[in-house]
Amino acid sequence: MECLVCGSSKISMRKTKISDFLVEKVFGKEDLDKNHDVNLCHCEECSFSFYDRRLTEEESERLYDGYRGTEYQKMRENMTVGIPRK
Ligand SMILES: [Zn+2]
Repeated sequence: MECLVCGSSKISMRKTKISDFLVEKVFGKEDLDKNHDVNLCHCEECSFSFYDRRLTEEESERLYDGYRGTEYQKMRENMTVGIPRK
């Protein structure tokens, strides 16, 4: 495991859980009872914190489904390189 920001391997981890809200939104209600433990990783070099469980493309899409309004699209277009503007 390496820091996503500075690449350091001085990472401390602690077990934590994904919030029920996130589980229900991303994986669906029937997944609420399953084990969704993740490690919260903390870089001791640059203090960046991140989860070792990354969402897949499909899962992130589900997570952001509700935000697909005009604002969200605008934001995405501004932030993402390579999406042609209208
Ligand atoms: Zn770091």
